[in-house]
Amino acid sequence: MIINNKTMPKLIVLNNKNRKIIPILLIFELAFIFFPHSDSKAYTYGGQKWSNGKAGYYLDIAGWDPTLIVYPAHTWNDAGSPFRFNFKGHNIYHDRDGKNTVTRFTMNNSRPAETRLRWNGNSLSEADVVFNMRYGWGCCGEPNLYDVKNAMTHEFGHWLVLLDQNNPWDYWDTMYKTTYPGETRKRTLHSDDRNGINYIY
Ligand SMILES: [Zn+2]
Repeated sequence: MIINNKTMPKLIVLNNKNRKIIPILLIFELAFIFFPHSDSKAYTYGGQKWSNGKAGYYLDIAGWDPTLIVYPAHTWNDAGSPFRFNFKGHNIYHDRDGKNTVTRFTMNNSRPAETRLRWNGNSLSEADVVFNMRYGWGCCGEPNLYDVKNAMTHEFGHWLVLLDQNNPWDYWDTMYKTTYPGETRKRTLHSDDRNGINYIY
């Protein structure tokens, strides 16, 4: 095969370019592998909402400091959305009484806490939270107790119909599905959680 003088320099130039391009492509590929979802939305919205853009809540947690619930409400109120959680007072919890109530009793399931939502069409009508008293609860990240503010911040996310996040790369989200005694990091919203409330409201 005859290679003329015009072809030779072109080949050399191409090879040089390839050597420079390959490492750059590798860097992009590695970034994609390690942070595959950093730019995608990492919240899941169930589709229902509070039609007036706010939710009042009542407390049925005699013996607990109300700020354990009020503080997580403020955390979501400060997330950049006009949505507001408003403290309305005290109530005795009854299912379907039209009053959104945070309560505590022993449940026959293994969940540390659960949110019970009611809606008509796409409009939410009631949200209640039950803290499961089969577990020990604490105020301050005690290593052997579940942290009330940590769990309540997550449960208020469910009042917004943000659903549990299951993927390991969503581990730092307040809406990540699991918790453990002593955990406090869910008290602070991740950008995924803030993006969630700001998408809905
Ligand atoms: Zn959850």
